[in-house]
Amino acid sequence: MEANIVIMKCSSTNGFVGVRVQKMEDGDWHRTWAFKINPKTANREGYDSTMIHGSLCCTEEFPGCPYCGNMSLYYCCKCKHIVCYNGTDTHVVCPWCGYSAALRTAEYLNLSAGRF
Ligand SMILES: [Zn+2]
Ligand SMILES: [Zn+2]
Repeated sequence: MEANIVIMKCSSTNGFVGVRVQKMEDGDWHRTWAFKINPKTANREGYDSTMIHGSLCCTEEFPGCPYCGNMSLYYCCKCKHIVCYNGTDTHVVCPWCGYSAALRTAEYLNLSAGRF
């Protein structure tokens, strides 16, 4: 079983979130868990090293953003990071890079992640 961690930022609090993703039998990647993470720890552990290509659907166990409970996420096309998303806003400002845009949800995402 392949699993990785991708780093997400919370849109409500700017907190860093480690999102555990798992490769499913059909080759797609799903989100299985989320937890608060210290970005310095994340760098030291060597996250951010491989690419994930998948829909990042959430599994039943997925607990949502550990800061605000958001279940969804969006992908910033400018800085290529993910951000938690409440599912209703049509205009968002990326907490990573400040890019503000009308939201487009991507079916498949390309993300960098590290081995877990
Ligand atoms: Zn959040
Ligand atoms: Zn961004």
